[in-house]
Amino acid sequence: MSDRILIRNGLVVTPAGTFRGDVMTHGEEILAIGEALPMSQVDEVIDADGCLVLPGLVDPHVHIQLDTGIYQTKDDWGVGTRAAACGGVTTVLDFATQFPGQTLEQALENRWNEVDGKAAVDYGLHVMVTDLPAGEEDELRTLVRLGAPEAKVYTTYRPNYYMDDDRLLRVFKAAAKHGILVMVHAENDAMVSAATERLIAAGKTSLRYHAQARPMLAEQEAAHRVAFLAAEAGARAYVVHNSTGGTTEILAEARRKGINVISETCPQYLILDDSLYEGEHPEWVILQPPLRPRREGAKLWSLLASGEISTVGTDHCDYTLEQKVSTMKFPSTPGGIPGLETSLPLMYTYGVAAGRISLERLVEVMSTNPARIFGMFPRKGTIIPGSDADLVVYDPRHKGQISVGRLHTVGGYTPYEGMGVQGTIRVVLSRGKPVCRDGEFVGDAGRGRYLERSLSGS
Ligand code: MN
Repeated sequence: MSDRILIRNGLVVTPAGTFRGDVMTHGEEILAIGEALPMSQVDEVIDADGCLVLPGLVDPHVHIQLDTGIYQTKDDWGVGTRAAACGGVTTVLDFATQFPGQTLEQALENRWNEVDGKAAVDYGLHVMVTDLPAGEEDELRTLVRLGAPEAKVYTTYRPNYYMDDDRLLRVFKAAAKHGILVMVHAENDAMVSAATERLIAAGKTSLRYHAQARPMLAEQEAAHRVAFLAAEAGARAYVVHNSTGGTTEILAEARRKGINVISETCPQYLILDDSLYEGEHPEWVILQPPLRPRREGAKLWSLLASGEISTVGTDHCDYTLEQKVSTMKFPSTPGGIPGLETSLPLMYTYGVAAGRISLERLVEVMSTNPARIFGMFPRKGTIIPGSDADLVVYDPRHKGQISVGRLHTVGGYTPYEGMGVQGTIRVVLSRGKPVCRDGEFVGDAGRGRYLERSLSGS
């Protein structure tokens, strides 16, 4: 049994260019790309005529089976990776939280135990570092040894995640020493806390006030400080979910001065805007950072096209509608939205088909760049012989609508309900095996592997 699949006659996006032709897999890897590859000795032929053939997406920022210490999502790794598979996401990078009293290694072990036997696609982990006693900074070395060479930190969210500037600087210094990338959720905690308290004092706690509690300036100031402290320590910083154009511009300016900072954004900040807080379903869009005025989305698209934003992650978070409406007050509503299954059709429709980014740019920011930045390239993130056969066959001719009924999440809603999309996912392969066909999950729980990653040379 050769386990060969031939994807025929698609528009294939490769590093050497986009061309009409074929991709052949053998076992878990890509064997060949070219025109009119031989059809003999092939186990399955997938007709991709009129379709795009893309490398499987690498989502650098997801929260499957999340426990914040305050709220817990209702999904598990089976549910989350099934959604990923059906969204064309063949690699998810999730987080392992260091809960009070845990070492970094225990945080990872906890997460491996949760994933065990459930993941349908490959996964890696970033560790949320919440405790770094003075004198023990070298414990960060553990992350390199265990193939999870990032530290995720938060400049806000008391009491569970918040890290003050002194600790942040110590993390940056240790990270620089050990070659660790520091991922930062950047919002100025004092500004967010004060804005929230003012709204509460004025009795303005309904969901429509959510965005007012987290001003754009809070994100921009924190990004500015993060770049400054990273430079001081000689560290590399990756600022997650830039939600304003100004945030990315501050980081781009820092890069021009030689500071090693990277910008990520998410589909929701590109496609949705803060008018939704005044709409019928504000609960669908409670997330941090909040949605911004429409003009910010336009700025982010142009910064994505010009290269100032390197990656698009979803920040996927599968809270249920019941959890979202449990209090109808923004300070006590869990923040986060599902996104794994909708990111490709949305980014294709509102990015590529709308003429805002090229198809090649979509592949870069949703697959190649995350694979490179997080130490998995060229095994992941590209279509070349020898790479993992993680592939998506996307039919751009199809016209449809996002609808919760077709999703594999447990939340019972999507903030994109009813939005039109151009194109649909026909087939997804994960290491040479079909995991989704026409919206139906056909993969195996437990086949997904932990990716031990290394940033040396990246
Ligand atoms: Mn997140």
